[in-house]
Amino acid sequence: MLSQAVRSIKSASLSRTKYSSEIVYTLETSLISVTGIGPMLAAKLESYAVTTVLDFLLWLPIRYEDRSHLVTIEQLEVNQLVTLKAQVLNSKNFYKGRRSIQSATVADETGTLKLMWFNNHFIIEKLKPENWYLISGKLGERGVMVQATVEDVKEDTIHTNRLVPIYAKLSTIKQGTLRRLLKHILDNVTIPANSLTSFFTPPLELSQVFEQLHFPDTEELVVSARERLAVEELMSVIAHSRQLKAHWLATQSTYPITIQSSSLHPLIPSSVPFSLTTAQQQAVSEILEDLQAPHPMNRLLLGDVGSGKTVVAGLAIRQTIANGFHAALVAPTQILAEQHAQTLHTLFPDIQLQLVTSKTKKLRKKVSATKASTEAVGTDTAPADAVGTNDTHATPQPTLFVGTHALLNKLETIQPALIIYDEQHRFGVVQRSFSNDSGKQPNTLTMSATPIPRSLMLTLFEHLGVSYLNEMPPGRLPVTTWLVPETKRESSLDWMGEQVVAKKSQAFIVCPFISPSESEAFGHVANVTDTFVTVTAYFSRHFPQLKIGLLHGKLKATEKAAVTEQLFAGEIDILVTTPVIEVGLDVPAASIIVIENAERFGLASLYQLRGRVGRTRQEAFCLLFSPSKAQTRLKQFSQEHNGLKLSELDLQRRGAGDLFGTEQSGLDTLRFANWTNLELIGQARMLFDRIEKEHLIWKPVLNVSDQLSEVQAN
Ligand code: ADP
Ligand code: MG
Repeated sequence: MLSQAVRSIKSASLSRTKYSSEIVYTLETSLISVTGIGPMLAAKLESYAVTTVLDFLLWLPIRYEDRSHLVTIEQLEVNQLVTLKAQVLNSKNFYKGRRSIQSATVADETGTLKLMWFNNHFIIEKLKPENWYLISGKLGERGVMVQATVEDVKEDTIHTNRLVPIYAKLSTIKQGTLRRLLKHILDNVTIPANSLTSFFTPPLELSQVFEQLHFPDTEELVVSARERLAVEELMSVIAHSRQLKAHWLATQSTYPITIQSSSLHPLIPSSVPFSLTTAQQQAVSEILEDLQAPHPMNRLLLGDVGSGKTVVAGLAIRQTIANGFHAALVAPTQILAEQHAQTLHTLFPDIQLQLVTSKTKKLRKKVSATKASTEAVGTDTAPADAVGTNDTHATPQPTLFVGTHALLNKLETIQPALIIYDEQHRFGVVQRSFSNDSGKQPNTLTMSATPIPRSLMLTLFEHLGVSYLNEMPPGRLPVTTWLVPETKRESSLDWMGEQVVAKKSQAFIVCPFISPSESEAFGHVANVTDTFVTVTAYFSRHFPQLKIGLLHGKLKATEKAAVTEQLFAGEIDILVTTPVIEVGLDVPAASIIVIENAERFGLASLYQLRGRVGRTRQEAFCLLFSPSKAQTRLKQFSQEHNGLKLSELDLQRRGAGDLFGTEQSGLDTLRFANWTNLELIGQARMLFDRIEKEHLIWKPVLNVSDQLSEVQAN
């Protein structure tokens, strides 16, 4: 069936009079030079960013109307969309009030039919008595066909007697005009043959792909054509990734780092109180190998929440510092930066460490430019005056600088040989390079607990090395997750109080919003401010010994610091908070997390939140509340503990941009392919490898690199 269709399209394109006329367009031809497109029309198209022949050809139909059923008048059925071939007997134009009405009677061998239009003078000019036409429409209840589409009888119809393209509204341009223009372009465009064509079944040339997408012969061919375009697009993404990598390897040099030992064991100081998991060992080896390479490392360290990324980072930092270079660790929040400083100081007391707080920037304006205004963790490790001076030699002591993204502004001064970004998804996927005098680029390690779906790994992030901690430190239990009905709210609060008291543990209650006004605007979605009041009232009645705390992003930095301190000191038993705790907060005693309006969170966020509890082998619970009736997703979440699977579900549901929380991430720029279609992605990669291996010439038709450069800039 398919091959037959292909043969017919082949012959159709052969018989086409493409080269007989003078006009020949290329994909780059500006639409203003296309016959039939004047300045007005061009302007309309341009307002939709459709300026070239390619742009226009990519304005694909949103659906097709099947007008291919050719019937006789006798066979007409009410409300069925059909096409018939009939001869005009008569036609007339008359007025009813202010409305003009056109009517015509047509006939075929089986009978006659009345047609009617409103305010359509053209139709009367078009319909010549005794001529035959193709007529598409639906027969109304009263036996009249209203507003039918009429076209001359010919082989190559575009409005009738076929699958007819229906386009998304493009300014005020009529469907018929769009069809006519696109048909004209398709008949006159030359698209160079593509070396990939023979790898596809059916082997559609790109010109045929566009023909089939706009004026398909069969529905199957639409599917094939779309897939062909999708593969083309995916290959462009892959090409872009590989180009970045090649460029990176060819042009970037980095700081020379040598590692004294070839085995891992001697590199782990005795201050690390546990032995590394196999996955951690593997990751450390991969990272250390990268660090020793002549070009800068560009690696992702992925691992479920609690899989132990920090110690891996620490070991890389330690080796960098042992080589006499600085390192920088960038955390998404102040709380997390402080926590990292603390943890790393405990794990590696021999690392000289400076916490660069956000206060630093403001202080620096007041204090002299050369005076460092950073805090050192552990008074025994004297802070050096590195930040704020332009002379990096002022810091002979190689140091680890820990801070939030404010630290990024200081990288030029610090000149670190290693930059580690933690919980990368909070920044979006964009990191910019910075200039430095030495011409050397730092090694980059990006850590994330947002599992990146395989499909993205295989395309968009192909230029990155990836280490994956697919194993948890021993003894960790999955967090028991319940979807709690509203009727059990009180009893679950009681249960929570009992648990916290009996096990001396801590609990979180997470609300989507901070202020009542926000929650008001979203139809009473829980906010921390109100929730804090109700929760405090409830527990003061039932469990007066429990202390309730409040933490959210709008608190002053000093207040946040105080609350965090109390939390770690165990002075707060239950913390009412916003998703600020989503990111990396490590409270060892936390064993219960309640999530209000859970439907408001993506699976990836829920997963992050759930990862906040049960971090030290204790039994832990996650309670989801949701007024929403659509609970499939939350049920899925309560049963699924694999972060990668959840991320793939999220990708399917919400798209990639959402997964990373960046609107401009460029991840939503795929127009034809779908990030979740692993099969097609596999095909694209295979083809790409073949091109490289067989030195085939392939030039991307779809330019994705403009959109993606932002995503992958390093
Ligand atoms: P994440 O990957 O979420 O950043 P962390 O690095 O914060 O995880 O580690 C989570 C907890 O697990 C920390 O308390 C850490 O000390 C502990 N941990 C890390 N690796 C191991 C290990 N191999 N064995 C036991 N505990 C570990
Ligand atoms: Mg972490």
